[in-house]
Amino acid sequence: MKKIAFHMLLLMIGIIVCYIGSVSWKIEMEDERTVDLVEKDPRSYPDGCELHNAAMQWDRVRIAYGLRDRGPNMKSEFPHSNKWIDGGCAGISPRYALIMFCSKCREAESIFEENWMRQFR
Ligand SMILES: [Zn+2]
Repeated sequence: MKKIAFHMLLLMIGIIVCYIGSVSWKIEMEDERTVDLVEKDPRSYPDGCELHNAAMQWDRVRIAYGLRDRGPNMKSEFPHSNKWIDGGCAGISPRYALIMFCSKCREAESIFEENWMRQFR
């Protein structure tokens, strides 16, 4: 009888360990989730950049949450850099977004960022 109780205990421990493992795996999968912003908001992602007259390319970028001093794009200089996506003040998920970007816009943003960082050196 004691042997059966011992095996039942081992079985219960096994079930609990499996359950905890699957729950933590699901949480991890949710964190890595990617949202397709091109499908959600096609008007924000035209076929070409109106400023640089360049074709847009696909990318998977990080979504940043929290207060920021500026967004990833500047309409007058780099309207489609989309190096990252502003997720707003609050939120933690999803972490990644499928977007389209203009490579000339990204170059312009890198130069802008370098110049902006120079003021702190
Ligand atoms: Zn551009």
